[in-house]
Amino acid sequence: MRLIIVGPPGAGKGTQGTLLARRLGIPRYSTGDILRQARRDGTSMGLEALRYMDAGELVPDEVILGIVADVLVKEESEDGFLLDGFPRTVVQAEGFRRLLDEMGVELDAIVDLAVDEEEIMQRLAARGRRDDSLDTIRRRLEVHRAQTQPVLDWYANADVRILSVGGVGDVEEIQSDILTRLGL
Ligand code: ADP
Repeated sequence: MRLIIVGPPGAGKGTQGTLLARRLGIPRYSTGDILRQARRDGTSMGLEALRYMDAGELVPDEVILGIVADVLVKEESEDGFLLDGFPRTVVQAEGFRRLLDEMGVELDAIVDLAVDEEEIMQRLAARGRRDDSLDTIRRRLEVHRAQTQPVLDWYANADVRILSVGGVGDVEEIQSDILTRLGL
């Protein structure tokens, strides 16, 4: 199965995406994790990404599209993949569409994890990752509203199945909602 999981920062994409990918036996690729690893490795991409991430801004589309093309071309598993945190802009969604066309494959569905902003502020303030300061969280939510919400409309227009799942509550229950919505 080829899936993407989207939702605001702090929605639980990483937690739910990891469980789902394990259950389906497919690799999960998180653009945020790949960028953080590049920072730790001190690569030029990591250093470029750093200032965007710490400011709560999006890393430029061409950098992100390069990362995704790289992992999918190198590691594409027969059984599919789950992408976490991508695409986050319409430009990324368009680039991704071209990439999938070249690979001759299609997306099966988008899992959209919904969590309200008040809950997100509480979760992220408690998590304390380097980019989880209050100002940065606010900025990431703004960026999500302005740049990432339109991606869902873009996919709805492209007739891709969007599964909206509530992201508040017990982790296992949310996971079972996702599986049910996927017909599993
Ligand atoms: P969160 O969903 O909590 O924001 P992520 O780990 O997905 O956490 O992303 C952390 C940061 O990495 C983002 O704020 C952004 O700077 C950068 N990033 C991750 N994925 C993308 C993407 N697809 N496009 C642009 N920037 C990205």
